[in-house]
Amino acid sequence: MAASWDAIVVGGGHNALVTAAYLAKGGLRTLVLERRERIGGAAATTELGPGIRVPTLAHTVGRLRASVQKDLDLGRHGLSLVAPDVRVFAPSPDGTQVTLWSDVARTAAGLTERSTKDASAYAAFDARVRSLGRFLDELGRSTPPDIKAPGLGDAIAALKLGRSFKGLGRDGSRTVLRVLPMAVADLVAESFEMDALRGVLAWRGVRFNSVGPWSAGTAAILLSDGAGNDGGAAGETVFAKGGPGALSEALAAAARAAGAEIRTGAEVVHISSKDGRATGVVVAGGEEIAARAVVSGVDPKRTVVDLLDPVAVGPSLGWRAGNIRQPGVVAKVNLALASLPVFPSAGGDESLLRGRIVVAPGIDAMERAFDAAKYGRWGTSLILEATIPSLADPSLVEGAPAGTHVMSVIAQYAPYELRGHRPTEGDPIATWEVARENFGDGVMRALEEVAPGIGKLVTHRQVLTPVDLEQQFGLTGGHPLHAEQGLDQFFVWRPLLGHARYRIALERLYLCGSGAHPGGGITGGPGQNAAREILGELRGRRA
Ligand SMILES: Cc1cc2nc3c(=O)[nH]c(=O)nc-3n(C[C@H](O)[C@H](O)[C@H](O)COP(=O)(O)OP(=O)(O)OC[C@H]3O[C@@H](n4cnc5c(N)ncnc54)[C@H](O)[C@@H]3O)c2cc1C
Repeated sequence: MAASWDAIVVGGGHNALVTAAYLAKGGLRTLVLERRERIGGAAATTELGPGIRVPTLAHTVGRLRASVQKDLDLGRHGLSLVAPDVRVFAPSPDGTQVTLWSDVARTAAGLTERSTKDASAYAAFDARVRSLGRFLDELGRSTPPDIKAPGLGDAIAALKLGRSFKGLGRDGSRTVLRVLPMAVADLVAESFEMDALRGVLAWRGVRFNSVGPWSAGTAAILLSDGAGNDGGAAGETVFAKGGPGALSEALAAAARAAGAEIRTGAEVVHISSKDGRATGVVVAGGEEIAARAVVSGVDPKRTVVDLLDPVAVGPSLGWRAGNIRQPGVVAKVNLALASLPVFPSAGGDESLLRGRIVVAPGIDAMERAFDAAKYGRWGTSLILEATIPSLADPSLVEGAPAGTHVMSVIAQYAPYELRGHRPTEGDPIATWEVARENFGDGVMRALEEVAPGIGKLVTHRQVLTPVDLEQQFGLTGGHPLHAEQGLDQFFVWRPLLGHARYRIALERLYLCGSGAHPGGGITGGPGQNAAREILGELRGRRA
């Protein structure tokens, strides 16, 4: 069958849309096939009740590459961003708090009351996170080298990376090698004495991953989170007006404007191949669509294990792909509230609630929460990152009764496999289907500790468990990043050694989602890098 498409992009997550937009701009006839009725994957907005919209899964979009925004002219396609001055507010049940602002000096000034040592160390820590983050950003923009047959392009890329490594200076280059494998708990303890501050900074080293702050390599996760954005020690906090779904709509508009076609309700059940080359896809219902290349925005394990013919993949790669680590530990709770909740630690200052509200009481509390997840249950303290996006973007509640707000809560550690959770002693071990609302109650109890009375304000509640993330959003193992962001799945090892250059298993089969380098989060990074590789290979070739 003659191919009417140059490229079929499987999945309509934000990375797939980024790739599709670049491919279409580059002159390739591009078709996107998304399994759900809506595009965006984890970057979506949900209607929680009449006139009430909330970020479905992800809530902040500040890691999106500036070059993606510019190249695809996302402003013209409707994207509008809001960045509050406050980045993080970390309340404690005893009424104390830590606040991280976009202004480093303001953060340090606020810390003085509780610890002059920590206040004076903050600016240097922020500068270090930024400088190492810049290097990791360079790494993230480059295609990992070809380890089997390095060519001229690899040599040039290595030279560029070598130059930016040298640019770190002698101290910086030693620091990056020392710091990346460290536990984030050790990294923050080198600079700070307050457990509350250590906890809130270390949170970004464990967020979305099945690790605790004492796990090796978590310092690298923290530094990667600051790569290519204005995060610094505080991390970014940027909202898309209309929720993350508005970002996906802007990407889709950019892709369509460049000539791409996007179909929803189109689940790809098989990627076809002939003589070791991808030739198209089969969609649920049986339709076969041919293409010169297939690009998967779906996670690499699902791509290789579920969508390809095992004979074409071969036993060795099939086994390795089956072992890509995806231990989901994140759940999502979305709330509509009749009015703004009261956080005594905020002392009535509403502006403190406009960023991320992090409930991570300290290093040991986080590690204990992770311990419980290791054994297939959740612990007495949950670690939460909440936002109230309706403060920065009232359009989310414009059709709701006056005073309504929405709260988006990322709840960790909720293990995908509930191997040890019994609703009450003596009960059999529960499944997520049984435990869903029980977990939602646990999240509400954790919120009540810092915002007493919040439970009474709830008018709508949605609890999405790690199994829902898999079944409804296609996140295998419930993993938000498509694959754990450990050092064993980093750079040339993401997703697998020998397959980190956006090509896998077959000729003309590419990866463009979060499971590819440089990894997950709303960055558009894997999508942009993959498009560069695909265009380099396909443009100018007829067949
Ligand atoms: C609860 C939660 C909160 C998060 N919070 C944040 C945050 O605040 N900020 C941030 O930067 N990141 C956050 N993340 C991470 C971030 O959202 C993801 O890493 C990122 O959105 C993944 O984008 P993607 O395009 O790579 O893949 P996805 O968004 O996973 O898209 C993959 C798409 O493929 C589709 N698909 C799957 N199988 C098929 C098939 N067979 N055929 C066709 N289509 C298929 C899926 O339906 C989906 O639309 C969060 C993630 C979760 C789960």
